[in-house]
Amino acid sequence: MKDRLITAGIDIGSTTSKAALWIDDHLGAYIIGPSTTNPRETARECYEKVLQDSGIRADEVAYIFGTGYGRAKVSFADENISELSAHGKGAKTLLPSACTIIDIGGQDTKVVLLDAGGRMLEYVMNDKCAAGTGRFLEFIARSLGIEVKGLARLHANGNYQPVRLSSMCSVFIESEVINLVNDEVPLTPIVQGLHQSVAIRVAALVKRLGLVEDVVVTGGVAKNAGVVDALERKLGVRLKTFADGIDPQIIGAVGAAVIAREKYLKQNG
Ligand code: ADP
Repeated sequence: MKDRLITAGIDIGSTTSKAALWIDDHLGAYIIGPSTTNPRETARECYEKVLQDSGIRADEVAYIFGTGYGRAKVSFADENISELSAHGKGAKTLLPSACTIIDIGGQDTKVVLLDAGGRMLEYVMNDKCAAGTGRFLEFIARSLGIEVKGLARLHANGNYQPVRLSSMCSVFIESEVINLVNDEVPLTPIVQGLHQSVAIRVAALVKRLGLVEDVVVTGGVAKNAGVVDALERKLGVRLKTFADGIDPQIIGAVGAAVIAREKYLKQNG
């Protein structure tokens, strides 16, 4: 088809790599795959896969932005942009009422505060401490012998009575959790406690900026309904969600693709 403007966003994260195609005013296609020790190749494979899946040729894509931890390795991108800007843009585009964007990824958590027009006012980031990230939840889930995707189901499997985990560090939290299991504490309050400990960390970051609604969570951990529930309880607000079919894990890639569109239009009238 002629006259449609297609742009791409490639988000090379610490844990997963994502590619999104933005066609005029909508999400055309996306993919999510694991990050590897060769981000350059992963970025290319991700891009080729999303093109293949959507039946779009590389020469139909007008502009490409890389983002994420490995953004400098997206060698075929025209430009790159920070994850903060990409998540802000992606969230605001898909949920215009959003002002506070909480991105919980594999290895860090970021909170971005936007004004009503989408301009970034402030941000805070926790990339020093593993506890509270997706990798941390994976690590604890593994020691419980369950899949990270199963945490949400366990969380919802009873009243909200989280065990209070007192350790600060992920390794000590793991020992605490194993001790609780050995003491025959049921898994549901343990998992709720785990999610509460994530929520406490995230809420402390949000507090540094001040809570401005609407609030939305992005990143892979946003798919854990248990973390979302614990966060809503801790923040005392309802978190907004994206429309059906929009995966919160691809918001950075979408944002990069939308920024690519804006840049292309600016340069080409
Ligand atoms: P990054 O951009 O840092 O690579 P992502 O935003 O892609 O991170 O998030 C990756 C994390 O999301 C992983 O640690 C993974 O455990 C978590 N995750 C992905 N899907 C789910 C799911 N369905 N339920 C719970 N956690 C999930």
